[in-house]
Amino acid sequence: MEKKQTINFGAGPAKLPQAVFIFLLHPEMSHRSADFSKIINTTENLLRELLNVPENYKILFLQGGGSGQFSGVPLNLIGLKEDRCADYLVTGTWSARAAKEAEKYGKVNVIHPKLDSYTKIPDSSTWSLNPSASYVYYCCNETVHGVEFNFIPDTKGVVLVSDMSSNFLSRPVDVSKFGLIFAGAQKNVGCAGVTVVIVREDLMGKALKECPIILDYQVQAGNNSLYNTPPCFSIYIMGLVLEWIKNNGGADAMERLNVQKSNIIYDLINHSNGFYSCPVDMACRSRMNIPFRIGKKEGDENLEKLFLDGASKLGMISLKGHRSVGGIRASLYNAVTVEDVKALAAYMEEFFNNHQ
Ligand code: PLP
Repeated sequence: MEKKQTINFGAGPAKLPQAVFIFLLHPEMSHRSADFSKIINTTENLLRELLNVPENYKILFLQGGGSGQFSGVPLNLIGLKEDRCADYLVTGTWSARAAKEAEKYGKVNVIHPKLDSYTKIPDSSTWSLNPSASYVYYCCNETVHGVEFNFIPDTKGVVLVSDMSSNFLSRPVDVSKFGLIFAGAQKNVGCAGVTVVIVREDLMGKALKECPIILDYQVQAGNNSLYNTPPCFSIYIMGLVLEWIKNNGGADAMERLNVQKSNIIYDLINHSNGFYSCPVDMACRSRMNIPFRIGKKEGDENLEKLFLDGASKLGMISLKGHRSVGGIRASLYNAVTVEDVKALAAYMEEFFNNHQ
């Protein structure tokens, strides 16, 4: 195969849509200026439109990343009920980290039996939800392990919180089913630096007294996310990416493309007689991050190194699996095109033919 342009299959910060690049020369401007007001308001309105965000939800643009929200969520919400407890569905690295952070502020229940590997979502009949929990938390797409929820957990009326950092706007979502959704921008909707928080209004105003003011949803909402200097450039880029999503058919179209793209790779894995293997249960395989091993189930490290070296020579970069799981991981966020994925599939096929 001939090398073309570089294709970034990294887990994030990830590829930006090509259409956004011509706008990258952004003049610095005050976050109090009329020009920036226009940018932040347009970005918020685009998000409202693309996700049909109901009027009784605030949209915040914060700093501190997804990890900042591992603290922000309990600091703001664990005090919703006197018991100060929260249920966490732990299905991978990111929800495990969030649960650990929340333990600093209240009692955390992991609501299903502890998993020995993060390759599945335990059947909801095994979940023991606590009706007096302040909220139920889950990570909608576990970026490291490639485990994605294709359903919204039924919490029997308890406030539902989701980390959608790595599948935000990759498909439509019924925001009204959630108390809070958060997502770092750097995978599907922009560059690093800004984290979107969509929070139902009635859940604000009950932050613990030790909550840092910049993480206090009510304070940030009251200041239109401008309590302190916001990540102006990242918000500007997010606006451009949202515009691109809108011009390309919105969340429905992103979903169709993401199904098509991930199916190309999963089909190839499934038809490789075990040469490629994905450890994740079929029912919860991620459309965004596809982890796989080469040669044998637990991975042949020499073959995997050969695979990565060959990919890199063809300009396909950042395909190495997360250091905690090894192997290969292809991240197929919104900006990765069908052609990019076909190029990867062609390389995988060629590698299979040469090494099986
Ligand atoms: N949640 C998920 C699902 C992630 O993939 C990541 C990072 O990759 C995080 C949270 C942490 O985000 P950040 O590095 O912005 O703190």
